[in-house]
Amino acid sequence: MLQDAHHRIINYVRLSVTDRCNLRCTYCMPEKMQFEQHGNILSDEEILRLMKLLAFDGVNKIRITGGEPFMRPGLILLLEKIKRIPGITDISITTNGVLTKKYIPALRNLGIRHINLSLDTLQEQRFTQITRRDKFHAVMDSFHTMLEHDMQVKVNMVVMENVNTDEIIDFARLTEQQNVGIRYIEEMPFNGQDKGFSGVSWDYHRILAAISEHYPLEKLQDAPHSTSVNYKIPGFQGAIGVIPAYSRTFCGTCNRLRISATGGLKTCLYGNSMLNVRDLMRNPEFTDMHIRNGIQGAVKEKYIDGREAEKHYLTGIMESMSLIGG
Ligand code: SAM
Ligand code: SF4
Repeated sequence: MLQDAHHRIINYVRLSVTDRCNLRCTYCMPEKMQFEQHGNILSDEEILRLMKLLAFDGVNKIRITGGEPFMRPGLILLLEKIKRIPGITDISITTNGVLTKKYIPALRNLGIRHINLSLDTLQEQRFTQITRRDKFHAVMDSFHTMLEHDMQVKVNMVVMENVNTDEIIDFARLTEQQNVGIRYIEEMPFNGQDKGFSGVSWDYHRILAAISEHYPLEKLQDAPHSTSVNYKIPGFQGAIGVIPAYSRTFCGTCNRLRISATGGLKTCLYGNSMLNVRDLMRNPEFTDMHIRNGIQGAVKEKYIDGREAEKHYLTGIMESMSLIGG
């Protein structure tokens, strides 16, 4: 079992399978993004070995993320193999939807039903401005196909001042006829450059206030380790949630760790990589036991919350979310 010094059990891993992406979202990366060399990215064998070790130590839930996960060649085959690892009971994916449509039947066959789709605007032109790519229709097509295949879709909308706050209600309205979750995410500073981020003007209070000016909100019970604070508009089919990703009100019940595309293990989004599991796995002197001990040691040092982690953050908030995985 992986347990930190604050008695939290870690059973959830967010695995970034690539840093590559077919969009260039302004809040995530600079226009000219330097990607890692292929040899630095975890191989399928390394991912499977790592996941087996983590599952052996009690991890049962994995979210595949990136970069854009579907940019990784052979992702579906890799997912099939992850699914066969004893102990892994829950696999989900976060995707930008550009390439996703054609993989939906394969995901359903694998029993993968939970999908988070990143979509920050419902307007084509604005989509191109935010993502610097002209892929709005491909994404919307994937979205509709997911719903047709009865997938449990959560739409992630990063709320950005002077960019898309006028669409907060349009997104809420999507829950009227469809059983879809809308999650409003506070913008975080991980955009791969120093934009002098000094705080978030649209925090979860302001987002909720904007919604409740239009609709009554009924509080829903949040799942035990939920990062979102969840509500429903009475009579609507779907649900809405706000993720205080910058305010970090959810750290107390954190049950997760992150593996970057290059094997960096982060026990907190706002903290440094505690160790590189790829380097351990590539060193023939290290056995599975050494690697498990390394991970257990890193988990023991998990900071109590994201504010504390940030104080010790050496690389600063210059990282791009595409390497970390969100
Ligand atoms: N490419 C996939 C996608 O966009 O869904 C998966 C990777 S992306 C890094 C994972 C999530 O992180 C997305 O929902 C994205 O909106 C979110 N994200 C990226 N940069 C962010 C930032 N600076 N602040 C808040 N959320 C961010
Ligand atoms: Fe790509 Fe996702 Fe980052 Fe957008 S948020 S640039 S889709 S990795």
